[in-house]
Amino acid sequence: MDRNADSGSDRAVKTVLDELATRLDAVRETNIGWPAASDVDFAALTKFFKRHLLNNLGDPFAVGAYPQHTKDLEAEVVDVLADLMRAPVDDRWGYVTAGAGEGNLYALHLARSLHSKGVVYYSESSHYSVDKAVDLLAMPSIRVRADASGRIDMDDLAGVVASNRDRPAIVVANIGTTMTEAVDDVREIGEVLDSLAVRRRFVHADAALSGIPLSLLDPQTRPGFDFADGTDSMIVSGHKFLGTPIPCGVVLVKASHRVHLTRTGGFIGSPDTTIGCSRSGHAALMIWYVLRRYGVDGLRARADQAREVARYAHRRLVELGWDAWLNQHAFTVVLATPPAPVTQRWTLASTNGRSHIICMPGVTRAQIDAFVGDLQAAMPTPTLVSVPSPPPRRTPELRRATPAHVA
Ligand SMILES: *Cc1c(COP(=O)(O)O)cnc(C)c1O
Repeated sequence: MDRNADSGSDRAVKTVLDELATRLDAVRETNIGWPAASDVDFAALTKFFKRHLLNNLGDPFAVGAYPQHTKDLEAEVVDVLADLMRAPVDDRWGYVTAGAGEGNLYALHLARSLHSKGVVYYSESSHYSVDKAVDLLAMPSIRVRADASGRIDMDDLAGVVASNRDRPAIVVANIGTTMTEAVDDVREIGEVLDSLAVRRRFVHADAALSGIPLSLLDPQTRPGFDFADGTDSMIVSGHKFLGTPIPCGVVLVKASHRVHLTRTGGFIGSPDTTIGCSRSGHAALMIWYVLRRYGVDGLRARADQAREVARYAHRRLVELGWDAWLNQHAFTVVLATPPAPVTQRWTLASTNGRSHIICMPGVTRAQIDAFVGDLQAAMPTPTLVSVPSPPPRRTPELRRATPAHVA
């Protein structure tokens, strides 16, 4: 027993921890705007948090000098995900990152090492970490227009690539955009580059959000986004669909692309092939645990169920007369931003009059019902949709009080 167990400071620590736990439990119920799955129980891994610094320093595929690591599990994670993403069996590599932002930075760094004169094309719907990576790497870049659903406007892409045909093209495809979960088809990007005879190219898939759930669908009926579809590198998140309790991701690339990037790591006894130096061994352990515990069929069942909840949420909103839509295969339901009482209570993501909820695994129909109930209560003209058409003429005062999306 800890000899300080009854000291005042120990009680103070306990108070803070109890308050933290209470606050975190309280926000959980109404947090339906962030893409973190909450259905996986990681309690089986608790013992690894007691006295172990798990550090996967250096390359996952070289054991190195530091003994407390989970590199064998990390290598398995890379291999399982590379299989899901149809990466070439004899030409694959990857590692567990601190998040998708690091994966985007790694991938663009790799692209720059292959095409030092390349121009990066990314869309206005791309995550801000792409902008940041381009900035850090000082790469020339062009932001391409996105359509209303959030997908890259392929005509605009063709236009800007056409005016830089002498430069290699480095294209970032969004496989699930942050606001609308739109998916840019990598095969269509390939066709644009083919049509302009741009052969020096690199396509990176920012698949942080949707890579894993999409990979569980039939390749014939889903958008093209993986290595067989023409991607050269990919990032997927660990804390989004897989629901790990710490942020992390997995970057996957073709091993043969990396020849210029490897440094020797000196005393660490392993090649220095990653962006960071010390890396979380717990992250690799957690991802491995979810992949192993659920298997491909279990993961697919989680994704199917989440999509069903998303379609349910969409249907409920439409029935209410509230403007809402969702992209194909998406967990994300886009809706007109609700009135303040709703946005104060519920954690949504909102920008420019639009909000979204994300029905990640763990979000329940009961939560959707509660949300829709609150929205209905806060609507300026409740049950407008059930009023037989034509609707009664409204005074200008009433019309002003009615949001545009309902009118
Ligand atoms: C979440 C997300 C990111 C950023 O990931 P972090 O893990 O927060 O670094 C990048 N791109 C997309 C598409 C995302 O959904």
